[in-house]
Amino acid sequence: MSDSAVANLARPEIRALKPYASARALADSAGILLNANENPWPPVGDEGLELNRYPDPQPAELRQRLSERYRVDPGQLLITRGSDEGIDLLNRAFCGPGQDRVLICPPCFGMYALSARIQGAEVVEVPLLDRGQDWAVDQEGLMRALPAKLVFLCSPNNPTGSEIAAEWVAEVAERQRGHGLVVIDEAYIEFTPAGSMTELLEQHPNLVVLRTLSKAWALAGCRLGALIADEAVIDLLRRIIAPYPLPTPAVQAGLRALAAPDRLAEQLEILAAQKQRLIEAVERHPAISRLWPGQANFILIRVADAEALVEAAAKNGVRLRNQSAQRGLDQCVRITIGSEQETDSLIDFLRAWTG
Ligand SMILES: *Cc1c(COP(=O)(O)O)cnc(C)c1O
Repeated sequence: MSDSAVANLARPEIRALKPYASARALADSAGILLNANENPWPPVGDEGLELNRYPDPQPAELRQRLSERYRVDPGQLLITRGSDEGIDLLNRAFCGPGQDRVLICPPCFGMYALSARIQGAEVVEVPLLDRGQDWAVDQEGLMRALPAKLVFLCSPNNPTGSEIAAEWVAEVAERQRGHGLVVIDEAYIEFTPAGSMTELLEQHPNLVVLRTLSKAWALAGCRLGALIADEAVIDLLRRIIAPYPLPTPAVQAGLRALAAPDRLAEQLEILAAQKQRLIEAVERHPAISRLWPGQANFILIRVADAEALVEAAAKNGVRLRNQSAQRGLDQCVRITIGSEQETDSLIDFLRAWTG
């Protein structure tokens, strides 16, 4: 079901754009194609992809597979060039420069604020609270800061790995009704047993869920993500997304990956085991003062000198990410979970490193 009230939250200039004309009709891509100034011959090494043709703007088969996997209607799903593009489309469609507010809960993914600032929106920060073993949203603080045109929440969050309860997200969406959207970024949801918040969509048409194939699905190089929302929101965003955003080879790689879910399951199991090994090594380490294990494919630690750790690791061929520039994360380092061999190397390095 589609809710037009949520579309009224968009910028008037976007609402005034001509509605998106439905994807290339079948007649359009059958027969002798002399309507798009394409080259009639496939390029060298084409391998049946027909790369001389413009791709389907929203490839039907990939849309079908993703909507099955995420258990939503195809009409509630927009395939994007990674979640980055989803974040950008939301800011562009809903935030007028100098007019609208975007709420974030740092430390969090940098794209929410960057994209909002590029659009000229005001960024309002409600910092997460450090609760020892994990981080939590400042629920009262966030409610007080509402309304905002967009509220970005991430569960599990990057770089803290902390989760947010669906019941509370529903309350935020309720409070935002008629005022703005609540965006839940689920980039790392495959790594936790928690269910997707798409279940809340029916009751809360102002909710948006972001999914990506970049992390658990091993397709960061393909730039494939999905924005899941009320059909009215999807229709609006289709007016401003690039006309042919999804390169044919990326779409094909996405379909191949989605056809092999056993591989995903196997890898998740291996990564969970490596994460446990790393946690044990870190817990015993005298120079690591804090550990936030989190629920994703990374951990966050605090040391006396984060830059020194990152440099020492790099000298040993291991790249880690200093998070000290983020609010509340002074001297913190994020470590992604790798393969068994990679974890061996990391643990060897940590044993020799004395801080
Ligand atoms: C990695 C990540 C993404 C994924 O971005 P893509 O553009 O899909 O590669 C989205 N959100 C968060 C919080 C991330 O850490």
